[in-house]
Amino acid sequence: MPHFWKGCCTFAPMIPTLFDSSAVAEFRSWTERYRSFVIVTHVSPDGDAMGSALGMLHYLQARGCRARVVVPNAFPEFFRWMPQVGSVVQYDFHREQADRLIDEAEAVFCLDFNGLGRTGAVGEKLRAAGKPMALVDHHPSPEEGFDLTFSRPALCATAEVLFRLIDEAGHSGLIGKDCATCLYTGLMTDTGAFTYNSARPEIFAIVSRLLSCGIDKDYIYRRIFCAQSVGRMKLMGYALYAKMKIYPELRSALIWLTQDELKRFSYVKGDTEGFVNLPLQMKGIVFSCFLREDKTMIKVSLRSVGRFSCTDFASTVFKGGGHRNASGGEFYEDMDRAIARFEEGLELFRPQLEAPAR
Ligand code: 5GP
Ligand code: MN
Repeated sequence: MPHFWKGCCTFAPMIPTLFDSSAVAEFRSWTERYRSFVIVTHVSPDGDAMGSALGMLHYLQARGCRARVVVPNAFPEFFRWMPQVGSVVQYDFHREQADRLIDEAEAVFCLDFNGLGRTGAVGEKLRAAGKPMALVDHHPSPEEGFDLTFSRPALCATAEVLFRLIDEAGHSGLIGKDCATCLYTGLMTDTGAFTYNSARPEIFAIVSRLLSCGIDKDYIYRRIFCAQSVGRMKLMGYALYAKMKIYPELRSALIWLTQDELKRFSYVKGDTEGFVNLPLQMKGIVFSCFLREDKTMIKVSLRSVGRFSCTDFASTVFKGGGHRNASGGEFYEDMDRAIARFEEGLELFRPQLEAPAR
């Protein structure tokens, strides 16, 4: 892809074509052939899952289709302002309704995950239902078996994949303010408000297009990043003060929180969102791990800056996965064992983590 605008501000960045014209034609024809859809995201939907799924909802409605978003479980409260978020059906709470929607839908769009295993019980229902399924995603190694696959791991967010797909389908005129607001939410949250994984000029060309749809980017930012509860703020202070261990020679840090501690700070889902990124604000830290004790397991979150691969660490040490700079996994023993496993992992990855000799 020619970066002809590099070092020159005369040309506006172009958005190069991503997909085969036949695949795009197939995507377009889906919204003619099928008139009702269910849109599904991964468990514990994040901003990109919510943003791309709701963005797809608005797009499909603009195409004259009926559509509903089904999420496997709860999403953080700070997404509860998003356009049409009130119509989202939570599978673990409203299973019968969601099953009925899936049975009645003619086809399914899968957003922001690479395999049905990431959707929990919804995946089992989808397998049994046998509806035509299309995947729109940016995670590496998409599972086979989707009828249509639009997967681009090099892109910063599923919302970016979806914007470009709609654009290439010749339907960007159908992206109204609400759709654009949802897509911008996906882009903004998956890039830490454009602070990482967002250096490609076309990302800002897309942002420019979304701005011209009338979105209020500062409002979106505040609703998500300035919506903290007192409990979360205090839990963050506690985590940083009392529960952060630094491994200076390995340029790494660990934060861990147990159920007891979470209860003490009246934890609600989403309260620890972003904690894993905090240690990366320290000079010299390139790798961060956050361990949160859930009811049935310990949730592992990993983040890195630069070349260190969280994906390799997640898959080798915690049987997880994700992206180079953001990965996760699940651990089914106690917290002490999880910490020990993390520290064994650090030793294993010592060659990649040690500061380069000067
Ligand atoms: P988070 O730390 O925000 O929960 O997850 C960051 C990224 O890691 C997600 O976008 C997802 O790609 C990946 N991820 C998180 N948890 C898991 C997991 O249990 N298994 C796998 N394979 N990937 C995960
Ligand atoms: Mn994403």
